[in-house]
Amino acid sequence: MQFANNPTLRSWLTVPENSDFPIQNIPFGIFRTKELSPRVATRIGDTVVDLQSLAEARFFADLEAPVEAFAQAVLNPFMALGKPVTNAVRNRIAEIFSGTPDSGKQKLIHKALYALQEVELLMPVNVGDYTDFYSSREHATNIGTMFRGAENALMPNWLHLPVGYHGRASSIVVSGTPVHRPKGQTMPAGAEKPVYGPSKLLDFELEMAFVVGKSSELGTPVSTAQAEEHIFGLCLFNDWSARDIQKWEYVPLGPFLGKSFASSISPWIVTLEALDPFRISGPEQDPEVLPYLKYEGNRRYDINLEVQIQVEGQEAKTISRSNYKYMYWNLFQQLAHHTVNGCNINTGDMCASGTISGTTLDSYGSMLEISGGGKRSLTMPDGSERKFLKDGDTVIMKGFGEKDGVRIGFGEVSGKVLPAK
Ligand code: CA
Repeated sequence: MQFANNPTLRSWLTVPENSDFPIQNIPFGIFRTKELSPRVATRIGDTVVDLQSLAEARFFADLEAPVEAFAQAVLNPFMALGKPVTNAVRNRIAEIFSGTPDSGKQKLIHKALYALQEVELLMPVNVGDYTDFYSSREHATNIGTMFRGAENALMPNWLHLPVGYHGRASSIVVSGTPVHRPKGQTMPAGAEKPVYGPSKLLDFELEMAFVVGKSSELGTPVSTAQAEEHIFGLCLFNDWSARDIQKWEYVPLGPFLGKSFASSISPWIVTLEALDPFRISGPEQDPEVLPYLKYEGNRRYDINLEVQIQVEGQEAKTISRSNYKYMYWNLFQQLAHHTVNGCNINTGDMCASGTISGTTLDSYGSMLEISGGGKRSLTMPDGSERKFLKDGDTVIMKGFGEKDGVRIGFGEVSGKVLPAK
């Protein structure tokens, strides 16, 4: 077990009850203040820790983690140091902030601490390439049933490979960034020709994404067993979707402008190692998968997920509770499949899970499913109805795992819908 994962560790920093960020988490992100340039940080409770400052004070000097890796506006150079180094840094941080603070170093440590509300959290990763999978069987079944009927819900390939598409990296934004309703071309029901205008069917997709730490060589596949070395960590991911644009454009090459206008991520990348306690087995895969997709051990994660919609001026309303365990294809299989043709991956690449839906209406991961394709409405706290998102709505997603009294979470990813430009 990693030192930082020990459930008995306690930080001398205040960690509020039910915080997603106890000493066992130690996620990585990027922040700045009015005075400080962007730099690598971690978070314990509601305290943001300036890791550049700790690196300059030589707290990581024996770990092959140079100061330059922390004095950056993105995590890429830090992640590229590789797991032996980044895990050593995570464990060192856990040492510094647990037990009794070293009195000789108190001043240097305190200089690195900021209250969460004093800082601005920035997009943590320079995402070179972004891929979106479609790996929740419950979601794929819901969508397939809607479009093709229950008999043909899953396409013939679905149980044999993790279906995915290459998405757009440039429009991935950090939590808090507003999203303008996209405009585009749609074919309204009964119309004879397409029209152009603001999307009328704006939706979210509840997903998680993994971030690549270690690159791979072009021509060399990464196996399910090797994938762990390459995956740095995870974040929450909202794959905003314009259903009317998507429906008209997606045949035969898949999602395009109905997706590429924005995707939102949570600001802290939680390491794969911090999520170790939440690994679970299964699901059974039948038919048997090809050898390159086989894996050993517990490779799914039990992480509670939640979606809220906040109507302007109202309390946020929880509209769905799902779980990352509703993945038929796990992230290690996704990466093995992604690279099996020799396609290389680079530090900072992001792969989203696909919408994560559970088995019941209150655990679906998109409005498309919750509303049954626009047949049902949700009633919001102000009495207004929702089949899809309206301007002014803020979508908030949260996620955490909990075991042995330790809760490790992601905080949240939120984004407000603004009118079309
Ligand atoms: Ca998606």
